[in-house]
Amino acid sequence: ATPTALMVGIGRGATLGILIKGQDALETSGVIDTIVLDKTGTLTTGDLTITNVELTGDLTREEVLGYAASVEQGSEHPIARAVEHLAIAEGVVAQPTTNYTTHPGQGATATVGGKQVAVGNHTLLRTIGAGTPAGGGLRGGLLPDADGAPGGGLQPHADGAPGGGAGRDEPGTGSVVWVVVDGRIVGQLEVADRLRSIAGAAVRELHRAGLRTVLLTGDSEAAAREVAEELGIDDVRAGVLPADKAGVIAELQADGHRVAMVGDGINDATALATADLGLAVVSGTDIALKSADIVLVREDLGVIPDAIGLARRTRRTIH
Ligand code: ADP
Ligand code: MG
Repeated sequence: ATPTALMVGIGRGATLGILIKGQDALETSGVIDTIVLDKTGTLTTGDLTITNVELTGDLTREEVLGYAASVEQGSEHPIARAVEHLAIAEGVVAQPTTNYTTHPGQGATATVGGKQVAVGNHTLLRTIGAGTPAGGGLRGGLLPDADGAPGGGLQPHADGAPGGGAGRDEPGTGSVVWVVVDGRIVGQLEVADRLRSIAGAAVRELHRAGLRTVLLTGDSEAAAREVAEELGIDDVRAGVLPADKAGVIAELQADGHRVAMVGDGINDATALATADLGLAVVSGTDIALKSADIVLVREDLGVIPDAIGLARRTRRTIH
Protein backbone atom coordinates (compact mmCIF):
# COMPACT_ATOMS: atom_id res chain seq x y z
CA ALA A 1 0.00 0.00 0.00
CA THR A 2 1.25 3.44 -0.82
CA PRO A 3 0.46 5.94 1.91
CA THR A 4 0.54 8.72 -0.70
CA ALA A 5 -2.49 7.39 -2.57
CA LEU A 6 -4.28 6.95 0.73
CA MET A 7 -3.45 10.50 1.74
CA VAL A 8 -4.61 11.83 -1.62
CA GLY A 9 -7.85 9.88 -1.25
CA ILE A 10 -8.41 11.15 2.27
CA GLY A 11 -7.54 14.69 1.17
CA ARG A 12 -9.94 14.56 -1.75
CA GLY A 13 -12.59 13.18 0.57
CA ALA A 14 -12.13 16.10 2.92
CA THR A 15 -12.80 18.62 0.15
CA LEU A 16 -15.99 16.71 -0.75
CA GLY A 17 -17.08 16.69 2.88
CA ILE A 18 -16.19 13.05 3.43
CA LEU A 19 -14.04 12.03 6.34
CA ILE A 20 -12.42 8.66 5.68
CA LYS A 21 -11.06 7.27 8.90
CA GLY A 22 -8.37 5.04 7.48
CA GLN A 23 -7.29 2.45 5.03
CA ASP A 24 -9.66 -0.25 6.24
CA ALA A 25 -12.61 1.84 5.12
CA LEU A 26 -11.08 2.11 1.66
CA GLU A 27 -10.35 -1.60 1.49
CA THR A 28 -13.93 -2.46 2.40
CA SER A 29 -15.62 0.04 0.08
CA GLY A 30 -14.45 -1.85 -2.96
CA VAL A 31 -16.16 -5.06 -2.03
CA ILE A 32 -19.52 -4.02 -0.57
CA ASP A 33 -22.58 -5.02 -2.59
CA THR A 34 -25.42 -3.89 -0.30
CA ILE A 35 -26.12 -0.53 1.26
CA VAL A 36 -28.55 -0.25 4.17
CA LEU A 37 -30.14 3.15 4.64
CA ASP A 38 -31.77 4.43 7.82
CA LYS A 39 -35.05 6.20 7.08
CA THR A 40 -35.77 8.89 9.63
CA GLY A 41 -33.16 11.62 9.63
CA THR A 42 -31.10 9.99 6.89
CA LEU A 43 -33.35 9.66 3.82
CA THR A 44 -35.86 12.04 5.34
CA THR A 45 -35.11 15.33 7.02
CA GLY A 46 -36.30 13.97 10.35
CA ASP A 47 -37.89 17.37 10.87
CA LEU A 48 -41.36 15.99 11.61
CA THR A 49 -44.71 17.73 11.74
CA ILE A 50 -47.96 16.69 13.38
CA THR A 51 -50.44 17.22 10.56
CA ASN A 52 -53.59 16.02 12.29
CA VAL A 53 -54.96 15.24 15.72
CA GLU A 54 -57.93 12.91 15.94
CA LEU A 55 -59.79 12.64 19.21
CA THR A 56 -60.87 9.10 20.07
CA GLY A 57 -62.12 9.55 23.62
CA ASP A 58 -63.75 12.07 25.92
CA LEU A 59 -60.79 14.42 26.18
CA THR A 60 -60.48 17.73 24.37
CA ARG A 61 -57.75 18.46 21.83
CA GLU A 62 -56.08 20.69 24.41
CA GLU A 63 -56.08 17.93 27.02
CA VAL A 64 -54.77 15.30 24.60
CA LEU A 65 -52.01 17.58 23.38
CA GLY A 66 -51.19 18.56 26.95
CA TYR A 67 -50.74 14.94 28.04
CA ALA A 68 -48.73 14.10 24.94
CA ALA A 69 -46.45 17.13 25.25
CA SER A 70 -45.89 16.44 28.94
CA VAL A 71 -44.61 12.93 28.24
CA GLU A 72 -42.60 13.99 25.18
CA GLN A 73 -40.62 16.61 27.14
CA GLY A 74 -38.48 13.73 28.29
CA SER A 75 -37.86 12.24 24.86
CA GLU A 76 -35.22 13.10 22.30
CA HIS A 77 -37.11 11.49 19.44
CA PRO A 78 -38.01 13.74 16.46
CA ILE A 79 -41.69 12.88 17.05
CA ALA A 80 -41.36 14.33 20.54
CA ARG A 81 -40.07 17.60 19.08
CA ALA A 82 -43.01 17.69 16.66
CA VAL A 83 -45.50 17.17 19.50
CA GLU A 84 -43.86 19.92 21.55
CA HIS A 85 -43.89 22.34 18.61
CA LEU A 86 -47.60 21.79 18.07
CA ALA A 87 -48.35 22.22 21.78
CA ILE A 88 -46.42 25.48 21.87
CA ALA A 89 -48.15 26.70 18.70
CA GLU A 90 -51.53 26.04 20.31
CA GLY A 91 -50.58 27.53 23.66
CA VAL A 92 -50.79 24.19 25.45
CA VAL A 93 -48.52 23.96 28.46
CA ALA A 94 -46.70 20.72 29.35
CA GLN A 95 -47.09 19.46 32.93
CA PRO A 96 -44.36 18.00 35.14
CA THR A 97 -44.10 14.22 35.04
CA THR A 98 -42.85 11.37 37.20
CA ASN A 99 -41.84 7.82 36.28
CA TYR A 100 -40.79 8.85 32.80
CA THR A 101 -39.77 5.77 30.81
CA THR A 102 -38.52 5.66 27.26
CA HIS A 103 -39.39 2.63 25.13
CA PRO A 104 -36.89 2.61 22.26
CA GLY A 105 -38.55 2.16 18.89
CA GLN A 106 -42.00 2.39 20.54
CA GLY A 107 -42.54 5.65 22.38
CA ALA A 108 -42.58 6.88 25.95
CA THR A 109 -44.66 6.65 29.13
CA ALA A 110 -44.95 8.79 32.25
CA THR A 111 -47.25 9.74 35.08
CA VAL A 112 -48.89 13.12 34.50
CA GLY A 113 -51.16 14.58 37.19
CA GLY A 114 -51.67 11.12 38.71
CA LYS A 115 -52.60 9.56 35.36
CA GLN A 116 -50.63 6.96 33.41
CA VAL A 117 -49.90 8.44 30.00
CA ALA A 118 -48.31 6.78 26.98
CA VAL A 119 -47.40 8.21 23.58
CA GLY A 120 -46.21 5.85 20.91
CA ASN A 121 -46.85 3.37 18.16
CA HIS A 122 -48.74 0.13 17.82
CA THR A 123 -45.97 -1.83 19.52
CA LEU A 124 -46.17 0.43 22.55
CA LEU A 125 -49.92 -0.13 22.74
CA ARG A 126 -49.20 -3.85 22.94
CA THR A 127 -46.40 -3.33 25.47
CA ILE A 128 -48.66 -1.44 27.85
CA GLY A 129 -51.69 -3.59 27.06
CA ALA A 130 -53.83 -0.76 25.72
CA GLY A 131 -55.59 -2.78 23.06
CA THR A 132 -56.02 -2.03 19.39
CA PRO A 133 -57.22 1.35 18.18
CA ALA A 134 -60.39 1.47 16.14
CA GLY A 135 -60.68 2.96 12.67
CA GLY A 136 -57.56 3.67 10.70
CA GLY A 137 -58.31 6.23 7.99
CA LEU A 138 -55.79 8.53 9.56
CA ARG A 139 -52.15 8.17 8.75
CA GLY A 140 -49.03 10.21 8.27
CA GLY A 141 -47.27 10.71 5.02
CA LEU A 142 -44.49 12.35 3.17
CA LEU A 143 -44.47 16.05 2.57
CA PRO A 144 -42.48 17.68 -0.22
CA ASP A 145 -38.98 18.61 0.85
CA ALA A 146 -38.58 22.07 2.30
CA ASP A 147 -36.77 23.30 -0.79
CA GLY A 148 -39.52 22.02 -3.06
CA ALA A 149 -37.70 18.86 -4.17
CA PRO A 150 -37.40 20.02 -7.79
CA GLY A 151 -37.91 17.14 -10.18
CA GLY A 152 -38.03 14.76 -7.27
CA GLY A 153 -41.49 13.57 -8.20
CA LEU A 154 -42.74 14.10 -4.68
CA GLN A 155 -46.30 15.19 -4.23
CA PRO A 156 -48.07 16.26 -1.10
CA HIS A 157 -49.97 13.27 0.16
CA ALA A 158 -52.94 14.88 1.80
CA ASP A 159 -54.88 11.64 1.74
CA GLY A 160 -52.11 9.34 2.77
CA ALA A 161 -49.91 6.97 0.81
CA PRO A 162 -49.63 7.19 -2.95
CA GLY A 163 -49.87 3.96 -4.86
CA GLY A 164 -51.64 2.18 -2.04
CA GLY A 165 -48.83 1.14 0.27
CA ALA A 166 -49.23 -2.26 1.86
CA GLY A 167 -51.78 -2.31 4.61
CA ARG A 168 -52.84 1.22 3.97
CA ASP A 169 -56.20 0.81 5.62
CA GLU A 170 -55.02 -1.23 8.56
CA PRO A 171 -55.09 0.46 11.89
CA GLY A 172 -51.57 0.98 13.09
CA THR A 173 -49.97 1.60 9.71
CA GLY A 174 -48.35 4.79 8.60
CA SER A 175 -46.70 7.30 10.83
CA VAL A 176 -49.35 7.52 13.48
CA VAL A 177 -48.80 7.59 17.21
CA TRP A 178 -51.43 7.16 19.86
CA VAL A 179 -51.98 8.98 23.11
CA VAL A 180 -53.18 6.72 25.91
CA VAL A 181 -54.43 7.95 29.30
CA ASP A 182 -55.08 5.37 32.02
CA GLY A 183 -55.31 2.60 29.44
CA ARG A 184 -57.73 4.43 27.10
CA ILE A 185 -56.72 5.64 23.68
CA VAL A 186 -57.72 9.31 23.69
CA GLY A 187 -56.11 10.52 20.49
CA GLN A 188 -54.20 9.76 17.31
CA LEU A 189 -51.45 12.04 16.11
CA GLU A 190 -50.65 11.97 12.41
CA VAL A 191 -46.95 12.46 11.79
CA ALA A 192 -45.51 13.62 8.48
CA ASP A 193 -41.91 13.57 7.44
CA ARG A 194 -40.32 14.84 4.26
CA LEU A 195 -37.76 13.23 1.98
CA ARG A 196 -34.49 15.01 1.54
CA SER A 197 -34.53 16.48 -1.96
CA ILE A 198 -31.31 14.68 -2.88
CA ALA A 199 -32.52 11.24 -1.71
CA GLY A 200 -33.86 10.01 -5.08
CA ALA A 201 -30.73 10.95 -7.00
CA ALA A 202 -28.50 9.41 -4.33
CA VAL A 203 -30.37 6.09 -4.51
CA ARG A 204 -30.22 6.08 -8.33
CA GLU A 205 -26.46 6.62 -8.20
CA LEU A 206 -26.01 3.84 -5.67
CA HIS A 207 -27.89 1.53 -8.04
CA ARG A 208 -25.71 2.67 -10.93
CA ALA A 209 -22.70 1.73 -8.79
CA GLY A 210 -24.16 -1.79 -8.66
CA LEU A 211 -25.31 -1.68 -5.05
CA ARG A 212 -28.51 -3.23 -3.73
CA THR A 213 -30.36 -0.82 -1.45
CA VAL A 214 -32.19 -1.75 1.74
CA LEU A 215 -34.32 0.57 3.85
CA LEU A 216 -34.02 -0.08 7.60
CA THR A 217 -36.39 1.57 10.03
CA GLY A 218 -38.19 1.29 13.32
CA ASP A 219 -41.19 2.87 11.66
CA SER A 220 -44.15 0.85 10.34
CA GLU A 221 -44.13 -1.28 7.20
CA ALA A 222 -46.53 1.13 5.45
CA ALA A 223 -44.45 4.22 6.18
CA ALA A 224 -41.32 2.37 5.07
CA ARG A 225 -42.93 1.08 1.83
CA GLU A 226 -44.07 4.59 0.96
CA VAL A 227 -40.51 5.87 1.13
CA ALA A 228 -39.04 2.80 -0.59
CA GLU A 229 -41.50 3.07 -3.49
CA GLU A 230 -40.92 6.78 -3.85
CA LEU A 231 -37.14 6.30 -4.01
CA GLY A 232 -37.00 2.95 -5.81
CA ILE A 233 -35.24 1.24 -2.91
CA ASP A 234 -34.89 -2.52 -3.48
CA ASP A 235 -35.80 -3.95 -0.10
CA VAL A 236 -37.43 -2.93 3.19
CA ARG A 237 -36.85 -3.99 6.79
CA ALA A 238 -39.46 -2.15 8.89
CA GLY A 239 -40.58 -2.23 12.49
CA VAL A 240 -37.05 -3.03 13.60
CA LEU A 241 -36.33 -2.09 17.21
CA PRO A 242 -33.11 -0.14 17.74
CA ALA A 243 -31.53 -3.12 19.49
CA ASP A 244 -32.30 -5.36 16.50
CA LYS A 245 -30.87 -3.15 13.76
CA ALA A 246 -27.40 -4.69 14.06
CA GLY A 247 -29.03 -8.13 13.76
CA VAL A 248 -30.49 -7.19 10.38
CA ILE A 249 -27.01 -6.22 9.18
CA ALA A 250 -25.60 -9.50 10.50
CA GLU A 251 -28.36 -11.44 8.69
CA LEU A 252 -27.47 -9.82 5.38
CA GLN A 253 -23.82 -10.64 6.03
CA ALA A 254 -24.73 -14.24 6.83
CA ASP A 255 -26.42 -14.38 3.42
CA GLY A 256 -23.03 -13.61 1.92
CA HIS A 257 -23.39 -9.85 1.43
CA ARG A 258 -20.80 -7.21 2.21
CA VAL A 259 -22.81 -4.46 3.79
CA ALA A 260 -22.49 -0.71 4.15
CA MET A 261 -24.83 1.07 6.58
CA VAL A 262 -25.75 4.75 6.50
CA GLY A 263 -27.28 6.17 9.67
CA ASP A 264 -27.44 9.17 11.88
CA GLY A 265 -28.94 8.48 15.24
CA ILE A 266 -27.80 6.92 18.46
CA ASN A 267 -30.11 4.04 17.50
CA ASP A 268 -27.86 3.19 14.60
CA ALA A 269 -24.53 3.00 16.44
CA THR A 270 -24.30 -0.78 16.81
CA ALA A 271 -25.60 -1.30 13.27
CA LEU A 272 -22.91 1.08 11.97
CA ALA A 273 -20.27 -0.84 13.90
CA THR A 274 -21.58 -4.23 12.71
CA ALA A 275 -21.63 -3.20 9.06
CA ASP A 276 -18.54 -3.86 6.93
CA LEU A 277 -18.58 -0.14 6.25
CA GLY A 278 -20.37 2.37 8.49
CA LEU A 279 -21.21 5.80 7.15
CA ALA A 280 -22.48 8.44 9.56
CA VAL A 281 -24.06 11.70 8.47
CA VAL A 282 -22.69 14.71 10.29
CA SER A 283 -25.78 15.49 12.32
CA GLY A 284 -25.23 12.13 14.00
CA THR A 285 -24.42 11.73 17.64
CA ASP A 286 -20.87 11.20 18.86
CA ILE A 287 -21.53 7.50 19.35
CA ALA A 288 -22.67 7.08 15.76
CA LEU A 289 -19.57 8.95 14.61
CA LYS A 290 -17.26 6.76 16.68
CA SER A 291 -18.71 3.58 15.27
CA ALA A 292 -18.50 4.86 11.69
CA ASP A 293 -15.68 4.23 9.22
CA ILE A 294 -16.65 7.14 7.03
CA VAL A 295 -18.22 10.35 8.27
CA LEU A 296 -20.22 12.43 5.85
CA VAL A 297 -19.36 15.91 6.97
CA ARG A 298 -21.91 17.53 4.75
CA GLU A 299 -25.45 16.67 5.65
CA ASP A 300 -26.08 15.72 2.07
CA LEU A 301 -26.93 12.24 0.83
CA GLY A 302 -25.33 13.05 -2.50
CA VAL A 303 -21.94 12.44 -0.94
CA ILE A 304 -22.74 8.78 -0.18
CA PRO A 305 -22.15 7.61 -3.76
CA ASP A 306 -19.22 10.03 -3.90
CA ALA A 307 -17.74 8.47 -0.77
CA ILE A 308 -18.03 4.95 -2.13
CA GLY A 309 -16.73 5.96 -5.56
CA LEU A 310 -13.80 7.81 -4.06
CA ALA A 311 -12.95 4.95 -1.74
CA ARG A 312 -13.09 2.48 -4.64
CA ARG A 313 -10.85 4.65 -6.85
CA THR A 314 -8.36 5.24 -4.04
CA ARG A 315 -8.27 1.52 -3.34
CA ARG A 316 -7.51 0.79 -7.01
CA THR A 317 -4.68 3.32 -6.90
CA ILE A 318 -3.23 1.72 -3.79
CA HIS A 319 -3.19 -1.80 -5.25
P1 ADP B 1 -36.26 5.12 12.96
O1 ADP B 1 -35.66 3.77 12.73
O2 ADP B 1 -37.15 5.49 11.82
O3 ADP B 1 -35.23 6.17 13.28
P2 ADP B 1 -37.06 4.78 15.80
O4 ADP B 1 -36.56 3.40 16.06
O5 ADP B 1 -36.38 5.90 16.43
O6 ADP B 1 -37.27 5.00 14.20
O7 ADP B 1 -38.60 4.84 16.23
C1 ADP B 1 -39.51 3.95 15.65
C2 ADP B 1 -40.92 4.31 15.97
O8 ADP B 1 -41.14 4.31 17.39
C3 ADP B 1 -41.34 5.69 15.54
O9 ADP B 1 -41.70 5.71 14.18
C4 ADP B 1 -42.54 5.94 16.46
O10 ADP B 1 -43.67 5.29 15.96
C5 ADP B 1 -42.11 5.28 17.75
N1 ADP B 1 -41.51 6.21 18.72
C6 ADP B 1 -40.24 6.19 19.18
N2 ADP B 1 -40.04 7.17 20.07
C7 ADP B 1 -41.20 7.85 20.18
C8 ADP B 1 -41.64 8.98 20.95
N3 ADP B 1 -40.84 9.63 21.81
N4 ADP B 1 -42.92 9.39 20.79
C9 ADP B 1 -43.75 8.75 19.95
N5 ADP B 1 -43.40 7.69 19.20
C10 ADP B 1 -42.15 7.23 19.31
MG1 MG C 1 -33.21 7.23 12.90
